[in-house]
Amino acid sequence: MRFSRLFAPTKKESPADAEIPSHKLLTRAGFIRKVASGLYDILPLGTRVILKVEKIVREEMNSAGAQEVILPIMHPSELWQESGRWDVYGKEMIKFKDRHERDYALGPTAEEVITDLVRKEVKSYKDLPLNLYQIGRKFRDEIRPRFGLMRAREFIMKDAYSFHTSDEDAEREYWNMYETYSRIFKRMGLEFKAVLADTGEIGGNFSHEFLVIADTGESKLVYCEKCGYAASTEKAAQRRPQVPEGRATKFKEVEKVHTPRIRRIEEVSEFLKVPQEDILKLLVYVVDGKPVAVAIRGDREVEETKLKNAFRAKEVRLATDEEIEEFTGQPKGYLSPVNLSIPVYADYSVIPMVNFVAGAGEEDYHLKNVNWGRDFEVKDFIDVSEVRSGEPCPECGAPLVQKRGIEVGHIFKLGTKYSQAMGATFVDEDGQEKPMVMGCYGIGITRVMAAAVEQNHDENGIVWPFEIAPFEVIVIPTNVKKDEIRSLAEDIYENLKREGFDVLIDDRNARPGFKFKDADLIGIPFQVIVGKRAPEGIVELKVRKSGERFEVEASKVGEKIR
Ligand code: ATP
Ligand code: MG
Ligand code: MG
Ligand code: MG
Repeated sequence: MRFSRLFAPTKKESPADAEIPSHKLLTRAGFIRKVASGLYDILPLGTRVILKVEKIVREEMNSAGAQEVILPIMHPSELWQESGRWDVYGKEMIKFKDRHERDYALGPTAEEVITDLVRKEVKSYKDLPLNLYQIGRKFRDEIRPRFGLMRAREFIMKDAYSFHTSDEDAEREYWNMYETYSRIFKRMGLEFKAVLADTGEIGGNFSHEFLVIADTGESKLVYCEKCGYAASTEKAAQRRPQVPEGRATKFKEVEKVHTPRIRRIEEVSEFLKVPQEDILKLLVYVVDGKPVAVAIRGDREVEETKLKNAFRAKEVRLATDEEIEEFTGQPKGYLSPVNLSIPVYADYSVIPMVNFVAGAGEEDYHLKNVNWGRDFEVKDFIDVSEVRSGEPCPECGAPLVQKRGIEVGHIFKLGTKYSQAMGATFVDEDGQEKPMVMGCYGIGITRVMAAAVEQNHDENGIVWPFEIAPFEVIVIPTNVKKDEIRSLAEDIYENLKREGFDVLIDDRNARPGFKFKDADLIGIPFQVIVGKRAPEGIVELKVRKSGERFEVEASKVGEKIR
């Protein structure tokens, strides 16, 4: 490819709404353009990357025994009614009507459509197992589309679905996909971790997310360098040790202090000269109709979604002032965990607190030198705070490391949820009709491109891993008006193409500094700079990632890259 013909509109400025490097750089380097919120054009450079990502995914999925299909994007509502998800999927699903007033959705995922196909065509155990996948567009009307391709409303996903005669066979395929995903992301040259993830309503221990490690990632994970345990921070929180129940409620060392008209945490902190971190706060929630007190540290608010997860509850809300009085017999703002008649659950971060300050359950008084166990009882931990670096590994006790990551893949053992709801059954060897056991496996193809940039860039631009780079090599003649330079560059270009490389030649009549800037921004792994020593047949080879430069003979460039 010749740069003079390439549609790669590079820019100096980042888009105003771009918050993270991948969004900025993919726009500036001419890979993507925004059409509207969460909708993007993918330009030739971007398309080359996407096709390489897809190629790796196809090769590995095929060699793992999966078969590619193409399913419609437009899903009739009847199928989603059958699975029960038409009404529960929520606003993320884009729904519309056809000319006959029939309801449809743009598929956000395809369990229903694929289960419909398989239930109609597969009847016998002899036709199973089956793993079918597609690489296609998905539509999700995200509340907050952002970060460019990372969280778009229309994006490309590889989604695979497998069907089995038994739980064991579904489990075997699950680990087959686990290995396949590991190979895929390794081949792409990405640093990633497969972490245990929450299985939500389906339950069991069969869900892993594949996260590309990057500081800007929206997911948090912890892992153990000693034994290899890795989990999302929420999943890890479920493995925290339980609190031993303290029984003593005699306040031997507790000091009751007069704190006239002082209620707010900042006022208590100032008045008693204790840091806010050492003040315990109690919040009373109504969790599925039952009152629950949550002890938290300082003035952090407990997020309702975290409480929902911790209690596996449907509805969580803060109690009203009247309810607090009714449930606890204590006034709001002076609530004390001591002698409270409702259970106290503690945020994990309060457990190490000693000699702290708490309400006295009485207006104008606080308690000093309160201690867990000794002074009041804690029922249990809840995972309202995330697992952090340094906490013990639930498997081996070694300190965990916390990092951020980008979810690029997700594998899930579904069991019989969809096959049962939609009647996808088969006749087993013994003549019995049984529901198929299913699994599903997704990879965010367009998100992979963004994640790769998030992990691989520097102040000058993108640094593509070789396997998914839009071009592997760029040949840069420093001055196309000089014959020796231009003709040597053209020779190298032709030779590299013949040797099988993906090559771009910057044949533009422009200043070398301008060309170098573009080459760095676009992030092609190798640059061959043809300049002063062209008459001797010597060129410079620059490695984009390390910035190293070597002088090499023109005929040896291909060899050096390999
Ligand atoms: P997230 O937690 O980021 O919202 P998800 O868990 O909802 O993702 P899945 O349903 O597991 O996503 O879909 C499979 C894969 O599709 C994800 O692992 C991710 O890589 C990709 N993906 C999901 N939503 C988007 C999106 N809005 N834009 C781009 N890729 C996405
Ligand atoms: Mg989502
Ligand atoms: Mg997710
Ligand atoms: Mg997911």
